[in-house]
Amino acid sequence: MKKVIVIYGLPASGKSTQAKLLEKKYGWQHFSMGEKLRALIKSGSDIGAKAKDIVENGLLVPDDIILAALGPVAEQAQSTGIVFDGFPRKQEQAQILDKLLADTGTKVSACLLLEVSGETVQKRINSRLSVEARSDDQDSAVVKNRVEVFEQESLPLCAYYEAQNKLYRLDGEKSVEEIFEKICEIVENLYEKSRD
Ligand code: AMP
Repeated sequence: MKKVIVIYGLPASGKSTQAKLLEKKYGWQHFSMGEKLRALIKSGSDIGAKAKDIVENGLLVPDDIILAALGPVAEQAQSTGIVFDGFPRKQEQAQILDKLLADTGTKVSACLLLEVSGETVQKRINSRLSVEARSDDQDSAVVKNRVEVFEQESLPLCAYYEAQNKLYRLDGEKSVEEIFEKICEIVENLYEKSRD
């Protein structure tokens, strides 16, 4: 079954972990906008050069750059299903995504919000510092920016998906396994509803 799932939440809320598990279990492509941007920056591409300072300061990259970084995600959604991790991050991006998907006859099936506290964010970022070595994890002022940007610009996205009955709030403080179990229940319910 092909589905289009959006996962979002604070930095280190577990988005990528859960997206990877979904990719493995259901065969949907995992698309992480953060990873895509980091790869574009590393490769020295024009888009990467434009995004670099913004990402390193923990701010949102403008939508024209995001659109250029997206690539053929709508086609991927149609052929295998897809899990978006860290995209969309605001209502304008959600609308862009809806338009792209509509062109291939698909739509967002569910939006999963992983809810964690500020202390958990800090603790998890501290523990992944040496493992992932992300430049935007190193400076506490940048982490603070990312949290503020999420609260001010991304959190309102809830209302967009809530109005469409597509929003599912999950307790991101629980274990990876417990969260994934809940997500699978949601997915199974989607199957029930649409049978495709
Ligand atoms: P992430 O790996 O999801 O934590 O994203 C890392 C950084 O990439 C963010 O702090 C933003 O600077 C940028 N970024 C990722 N996704 C988006 C998006 N959908 N819109 C704008 N900027 C983004």
